[in-house]
Amino acid sequence: MNSASSSHPPAIEIADLAKSYREGTTTHAVLDGASATVATGEIIVLLGRSGSGKSTLLNLLSGIDLPDAGTITVAGRNLGRLSEHERTLFRRRHIGFVFQFFNLIPTLTVLENLLLPLELNGRDGRDAADHARSLLNQVGLSGREDGYPDRLSGGEQQRVAIARALVHDPDLILADEPTGNLDIDTGRQVIDLLDRLVRKRGKTMVMATHSREVIGLADRILTVRDGGLVEVPRESVT
Ligand code: ADP
Ligand code: MG
Repeated sequence: MNSASSSHPPAIEIADLAKSYREGTTTHAVLDGASATVATGEIIVLLGRSGSGKSTLLNLLSGIDLPDAGTITVAGRNLGRLSEHERTLFRRRHIGFVFQFFNLIPTLTVLENLLLPLELNGRDGRDAADHARSLLNQVGLSGREDGYPDRLSGGEQQRVAIARALVHDPDLILADEPTGNLDIDTGRQVIDLLDRLVRKRGKTMVMATHSREVIGLADRILTVRDGGLVEVPRESVT
């Protein structure tokens, strides 16, 4: 038995994914035959024009949606074999999500926004709070714990969202246009921070973007094109 491969299975394996949406009487195929393998610790940038299916793919990887056909294995779980409840538990435990519009909970303080994913995994108390505070410190937001998200700038809100995406120590970080609502300089800072924190932890990340700025951090670049996933060399995108 090959112990190296059994102890380090790919972080993500997707094979022949198909996903279509019905609009009235017509069916629109978004993904059709998308396949890829991502190694643990790899940072993948997912390109593709608007409407090509990037968000659809991220939602499949997180188990929010199920494909019409094909298989998705994340952190050793075949998501198609899990019930909806099991997929919810899987997502809470294994996935950290960073969104374009931050999606912080406005009625919770900054600290409480970080405690929520921990509580959902059964972690609370002093240790959880200390851990959350330490992460806020790492994203440069010490002293803002007790404020509410709407008092923060966009860049600060996204830094909170990055801390929230990492706080429960997920295996896989998914980011959907994380700089799409930020100016270029702020976006760059947010990406540098995300890159640094994800790499430091050896986590796997898939980041969808149509910003060329972001591709510098990619270990590999995949493009969603005509329903499939195509690896493209960095030189052909810059
Ligand atoms: P991207 O993130 O690359 O811009 P999306 O994955 O959001 O693309 O969307 C891909 C295509 O699927 C688009 O044509 C979009 O209109 C369609 N689509 C996405 N989500 C839905 C949905 N819930 N119902 C119907 N069509 C959808
Ligand atoms: Mg999208």
